[in-house]
Amino acid sequence: MTTPDPTLRPQSAELFARAKRFIPGGVNSPVRAFRGVGGEPFFVTRAEAAHIYDSDGREYVDFVGTWGPAILGHAPSVVVEAVRAAAGRGLSFGIPNPDEVEMARTICEWVPSIKKVRLVNSGTEATMSCVRLARGFTGRDRIIKFEGCYHGHVDALLVKAGSGALTHGRPDSAGVPAALAELTLTLPFNDEAAVRAAFAREGAQIAAVILEPIPANAGLYFARPGFLETLRELCTQHGALLIFDEVMTGFRVARGGAQEIYGITPDLTALGKVIGGGLPVGAFGGRAEIMDQLSPDGPVYQAGTLSGNPLAMAAGLAQLRELARTNAWARLEEIGAAFEDAVRATLKKVGKRYSLHRIGSMFCLFFTDGEVYDLATAQRSDRQAFARFFHACLDGGVYFAPSQFEAGFISTAHTGADMARTGEVTARALAA
Ligand SMILES: *Cc1c(COP(=O)(O)O)cnc(C)c1O
Repeated sequence: MTTPDPTLRPQSAELFARAKRFIPGGVNSPVRAFRGVGGEPFFVTRAEAAHIYDSDGREYVDFVGTWGPAILGHAPSVVVEAVRAAAGRGLSFGIPNPDEVEMARTICEWVPSIKKVRLVNSGTEATMSCVRLARGFTGRDRIIKFEGCYHGHVDALLVKAGSGALTHGRPDSAGVPAALAELTLTLPFNDEAAVRAAFAREGAQIAAVILEPIPANAGLYFARPGFLETLRELCTQHGALLIFDEVMTGFRVARGGAQEIYGITPDLTALGKVIGGGLPVGAFGGRAEIMDQLSPDGPVYQAGTLSGNPLAMAAGLAQLRELARTNAWARLEEIGAAFEDAVRATLKKVGKRYSLHRIGSMFCLFFTDGEVYDLATAQRSDRQAFARFFHACLDGGVYFAPSQFEAGFISTAHTGADMARTGEVTARALAA
């Protein structure tokens, strides 16, 4: 893999050396370590609009957007001002505050499948709580998930299939008890027959099916027509809950998330990222009779010292209101469509038949000319070629996610000038 010259970013190189002494791998979340592309991460000291600035004074057009939350770009003034004002009133109360109610009301209004919602501090907490709640509500233990769908670092969900269409899970991570992983069935995405077979065999034991309705953690690919409908039908038929993990897609692909686009009503939904405006927030919600199983009303325990934190609520509400006020989704589609056209034209010009996927402001360029519709087909990508492309773009001042298996994010702050510069840099990188 490409090993770029560390002397290009001496401050970052020094910081990373020090970080490795005190933080495992030098990072607080593994993909930041650049293992997927080789080389070392840079350290960011400032971010504004569509730009990030590293500790060596370099500037980049950013398509990671802190992995999704920065849908209005970095540090939008409406959000920053709201956080400043909230901070002046106190940092955490640990007792109800009015903004929690407004946040919950807004979520229920925008995502009609959610009748009641609880606020947490991360996407991981949201999916973890959905699984516990589904088990508590149904009195069943088994969970179906799909290969390539990421739901945070929850024990029960850190499992992907071995070989075969229907394999009981083996943990992906050391430290996940095999007995727990056993309860998770992992199936290939878009494989209707595999899901039908699983339900036929053990439908009465399945508490829930959890998925990203738009899988965006193994690159970005889409459900085939009818797949989500089939999941909805099978869950209803067998008394299992359908859980949509919209931590990434919620409030990004549409006001009401992927479920609005596809017209499918899940029983539970997990949210995060955009909802926090850059602060740590997650949420999960759904049918009232399920949510009422949560403590203090019901027997399923769930809690959080900082849940509904006033700064996080202020940031999230300010961001959601700005999205609605400006109908940002139409603008994001415009920028996204123009970007897609430009990349397709470049691919044609340089004679590369790579698969470009996009929905609204999310995109992924797979370095393969084959159709990509699940984890196995995504893995046909040429990762060496991706790594070369990534580093060429980075050196040209354009930052894409440091892995073939991540989505890219456009924000409303990406200007025509940003996109023109990105077009030139990617064209050069693809031609190389
Ligand atoms: C990011 C993500 C999570 C995990 O959220 P964290 O806030 O990182 O814990 C869960 N599900 C999906 C689909 C995600 O993209």
